[in-house]
Amino acid sequence: MVSPTAPALQGRTKTRRACGEAAAAAQARRRRRRGAGEAGQAGPDMGPLLRAARAWRPPGLPPPRRRRSTFNVAVVGGGLVGLASARELVLRHPSLTFALLEKEKELACHQSGHNSGVIHSGIYYTPGSLKAKLCVQGAALCYEYCDQKGIPYKQCGKLIVAVEQEEIPRLKALYERGLQNNVRDLRLISAKEIQAKEPFCRGLMALDSPYTGIVNYRHVALSYAEDFQKAGGTVLTDFEVTNMEMAKESPPESTEGLKHPVVVRNSKGEEVYCQHIVTCSGLYSDRLSQISGCSPEPRIVPFRGDYLVLKPEKCYMVKGNIYPVPDPRFPFLGVHFTPRMDGSVWLGPNAVLAFKREGYKLFDFSPKDFGDAVLYSGLWKLVSRNLSSGINEMYRACFLSAQVKQLQKFIPEVTINDILRGPSGVRAQALDNEGNLVDDFVFDGGTGDIGSRILHVRNAPSPAATSSLAIAKMIAKEVEERFGL
Ligand SMILES: Cc1cc2nc3c(=O)[nH]c(=O)nc-3n(C[C@H](O)[C@H](O)[C@H](O)COP(=O)(O)OP(=O)(O)OC[C@H]3O[C@@H](n4cnc5c(N)ncnc54)[C@H](O)[C@@H]3O)c2cc1C
Repeated sequence: MVSPTAPALQGRTKTRRACGEAAAAAQARRRRRRGAGEAGQAGPDMGPLLRAARAWRPPGLPPPRRRRSTFNVAVVGGGLVGLASARELVLRHPSLTFALLEKEKELACHQSGHNSGVIHSGIYYTPGSLKAKLCVQGAALCYEYCDQKGIPYKQCGKLIVAVEQEEIPRLKALYERGLQNNVRDLRLISAKEIQAKEPFCRGLMALDSPYTGIVNYRHVALSYAEDFQKAGGTVLTDFEVTNMEMAKESPPESTEGLKHPVVVRNSKGEEVYCQHIVTCSGLYSDRLSQISGCSPEPRIVPFRGDYLVLKPEKCYMVKGNIYPVPDPRFPFLGVHFTPRMDGSVWLGPNAVLAFKREGYKLFDFSPKDFGDAVLYSGLWKLVSRNLSSGINEMYRACFLSAQVKQLQKFIPEVTINDILRGPSGVRAQALDNEGNLVDDFVFDGGTGDIGSRILHVRNAPSPAATSSLAIAKMIAKEVEERFGL
């Protein structure tokens, strides 16, 4: 009698060989690129660091272990949240095996590499919410981590500035909220004090948060990756997860039956086997949830944020972060002035609905992303409630003069001749089917064979970069409790 498992085992052996060949080819491609001096997708300042990460070897340690295709836990998504979580898990459980699966050839390519770079202090968030708790903890952990690793940051502070009389009650309410959230060193300051701190900024009153800082989050993400690999974790880039299912039988090398019963497949048909999965897939978190048989709700709506940059000779006008009093109807913080670690100053970002989840240009379009969005009733409810503000944002995105008008409320000296168009980022914002933007971080799993082995990070918008180390601790605890690690 022919064993029913035999063809499946042969198939899998073939896939493993294909996987090895693909890895070798990728390595050769990487070697060629390194030889040609290509900086990959990193900005010019990060190119050398990314190349170092690709070629990374732990100093003084033996060569890394052979790539394994079975792991105790696979973490999907090589942004700050996935990397911090993978790092935390391997540090807590050095005897277990962990993989980090990332669809791009580099890490931190999306939100984690396209953001304002602000270490938020925790002012805005509803007291008692995960955002409030994890941002305050996360900011402290972020500074401590950067100190330990020698990652440069600047604690340059932030002013939230009221420019209209009607904004003052909201500013005072923000101050109270910040105090409730235990934000350090907050105080309300007068117009005169605003000018002492930011000589070019005008305002009636401001909330001063000296604890706020800036950092290059891509640098932080690569450092998390280095820690993860040094502790024995495996990073598989160019691995786009397209399918997860229960294995029909164990992989050929397993001697312990169904020890790694979940098969995670990528777009090339390569497989890894694992016991548990954590997804931290940002703009695709709803799709990953759906793939695993868990709920597609809440859906992700991509909001693009375009930045302008001050011309270098005008950067002297901004010392620290300058933010508006946020509009309580929206989860975004409003167009702000943000100094960067390289000495430049970014202005923005705005918030316009994007027609492509990873579309960084005004006219980027994906039929699938667009189709998914327009067929979702939640989006129509959101649009109908916010039509005029949405059109205004679109208008400002197209016409620089309209954006400059906004900025002049804070720094009247800024003119259209002082600015250039800058980069963009796309925010992964969860939306429920009633058209409500989901405000807090959301983590959930599912039921059934696979669902009960998965933890999904469903909504991790700003300030998840600041909070990433605190989110990671929470995820690790949740993984330990759910999966009995
Ligand atoms: C414009 C902008 C400004 C912001 N400013 C700040 C700020 O100043 N301070 C702050 O704290 N936060 C800020 N944020 C928020 C912060 O950047 C994000 O909350 C954080 O980076 C989220 O990290 P993440 O790992 O969840 O997502 P991401 O960084 O998007 O990572 C998700 C990863 O999953 C991968 N992935 C997706 N699908 C798959 C798949 N099928 N298989 C394998 N891999 C997959 C993606 O390629 C990606 O690398 C900002 C965000 C934006 C967009």
